Amino acid sequence: MNAILSLPGFLDGRAVCAGPGADPDTWHSIDPATQARARAICRTCPLLTACRAYALTDPDLTGTWGGLTRADRNHLISPPATPRRAPCGTQQAYRRHCAAREHCSLCWEAEDDRRRERWTAALEVEHAVGGTLKGMRLEQRLGLEPCERCREAERAYRRARQAAKRLAAPPEAQESPVSLPARPAPTQAAA
Ligand code: SF4
Ligand SMILES: [Zn+2]
Ligand SMILES: [Zn+2]
Repeated sequence: MNAILSLPGFLDGRAVCAGPGADPDTWHSIDPATQARARAICRTCPLLTACRAYALTDPDLTGTWGGLTRADRNHLISPPATPRRAPCGTQQAYRRHCAAREHCSLCWEAEDDRRRERWTAALEVEHAVGGTLKGMRLEQRLGLEPCERCREAERAYRRARQAAKRLAAPPEAQESPVSLPARPAPTQAAA
């Protein structure tokens, strides 16, 4: 029995790790190459099954036992929790579908609802300042009849644009007519 890897009594003298020539450090190493060597030796051990079963009952054991490193055993005892996928209807699920280029009616409807909520909140802001062109566009997106204040803002915007266009237009009316050069008098052809 080696002193470092103290085997429980039921693992009798047939344990390869306790045999002559076995280096106990091999079963305590955290070096991946050395751990691989320990695992390979364990696979030749007649006590492999019993040793593994024993090691899996004690989460505090360190080192390689029964061909399993501590990380292997932790994984078997408590497999890593698979990340919980956001359920359909959430924005995360919608984005996941989009990234995977897949369609999901539930997620699409939920996204529409969220979008309408955002537009409605934005419209309240526009109405709070007395109605705006943006408010009118939001009302159109929401399928609402534009209110008079937003309509008036939209008319004011159009008037301002037309005025700006007129100012920017070339002053055609003020252009002087192009004067053509005087035409030379026709010369009398020699008789
Ligand atoms: S299985 Fe490995 S750790 Fe267990 S007794 Fe055998 S050699 Fe030692
Ligand atoms: Zn979905
Ligand atoms: Zn409005």
